[in-house]
Amino acid sequence: MSVHVFMWFDVEDYVTPQSDVALGRLVDIFDRHGLKATFKLVGEKVRGLERRGHHDILTKLRSHDVGYHTDFHSKPPSIPEYLLDCDWQSGIAEFIHREEAGLDTLKRVFRRTPSCYGQPGGSWAPHVYPALRQWGIPVYLDAGPWVGLNGRPHRYCDVLDMLGLDHIAHIGISGGAGEVERRLASVVNTVDRLRHTGGEISLYAHECEFVTQEFWDATNYGHGTDTPRSKWRPAPLLDQGESEERYLAMDRFVGTLASLPDVELVTASQAPSLYRDLARGRTFTPQEIAQACAAMAGGITHQLCGGVWLSPAEVFGLGVELLAARVRDDRWPRNLPFRYFDGPTEAPATRSVSDRLSLDDIYGTCLYESAHIDMTGQMPSQVQVGRDWLSPADFITTVGAALPRWLEGDQQSAPIVKSCMAQARFVPEHVPWGWTIFPPGFNADPLLQVGRLQAWTLKPAPLA
Ligand SMILES: [Zn+2]
Repeated sequence: MSVHVFMWFDVEDYVTPQSDVALGRLVDIFDRHGLKATFKLVGEKVRGLERRGHHDILTKLRSHDVGYHTDFHSKPPSIPEYLLDCDWQSGIAEFIHREEAGLDTLKRVFRRTPSCYGQPGGSWAPHVYPALRQWGIPVYLDAGPWVGLNGRPHRYCDVLDMLGLDHIAHIGISGGAGEVERRLASVVNTVDRLRHTGGEISLYAHECEFVTQEFWDATNYGHGTDTPRSKWRPAPLLDQGESEERYLAMDRFVGTLASLPDVELVTASQAPSLYRDLARGRTFTPQEIAQACAAMAGGITHQLCGGVWLSPAEVFGLGVELLAARVRDDRWPRNLPFRYFDGPTEAPATRSVSDRLSLDDIYGTCLYESAHIDMTGQMPSQVQVGRDWLSPADFITTVGAALPRWLEGDQQSAPIVKSCMAQARFVPEHVPWGWTIFPPGFNADPLLQVGRLQAWTLKPAPLA
């Protein structure tokens, strides 16, 4: 089985001129080996390369995979800072407003839409994902603790998300040649363990690590200090000998990895077809939909339905649409097409006065919710049935428990079945927000609450 190895570089130092040269030499290493890597570029870095006349480097980069790494990277305010108080829609709009100029730079220079996006340092926020969809960027490629699904690629907010993989490693350039050797040995070991099952390894570094002693942004933006452009200071440089050793170590790392028989080096641009969503274009029978809804009684989670993965939101949408179609057309549909929906945007506000829901009330609710989902492209935060307000989790499991009877012609009311949002466990409630660029004591855990609601959209993205 192939082990897919993603090698990606965050190219971001727009202050230290020597890092331009490092980028050129890094690209040369891959070109010498005839291999492609993914370079996630900062907008200002690309404009800086143009201003400093490095058109040769930009030309060389064109034959590689290009991703996006924001417009100004760590210039305060960071993404979690400026999104912390935004609601879902205004947060999406704010991210687009602040970061679109860098995307335009990349599109102008490389004449294509970047293959992927990854956040600067610890700057994760869930609002970014729908923005990526609007931009036509299908992959989130980075490392970090915010989302993960059993250590494998997954879909989150309809973006192929490569966070939280079991095997993600920094190549170790900033630790020197010895460290790169140690990381290489560990990666070779991992490849050996994965050769029978297949799997993914995600490896990353930064262009500046070959030439600077510390990160350029720690020098200029440490602890939220917004040093103005006129006062930007290049990061302190390594001596030439140390830099040369790091290039050699990188060359050995790439050469050794590529020579391993089970390794396939892949770029982010290949990922959407390798891990494509097989639910797209599929239809589902009422029996399949009923089964997927009922299966969530033990906890809301992704479901295998007709051999393909559905997120809880997709199951919810199908369940609602099935009942809406029944009442609209006065008969059960033969099947329903796959559709994607975003998760709820607020925690459910519930009010329970009954212990059973009548089928007529449920029909009315599903007609309303079907139109609402159509209009907004997202699940409701709570569902009104008669005089009751239910969480989407309780609503869909209640429907799921009764659907098999209803499909057979029974019209009895449905006893309310409680469920829990088990899928939320894939987005933590708390992470350390310790990136050196954040102001001291910064905490963006409320963004994780928003992100946990979007766990409704999570599902595995296995190799297709
Ligand atoms: Zn970065």
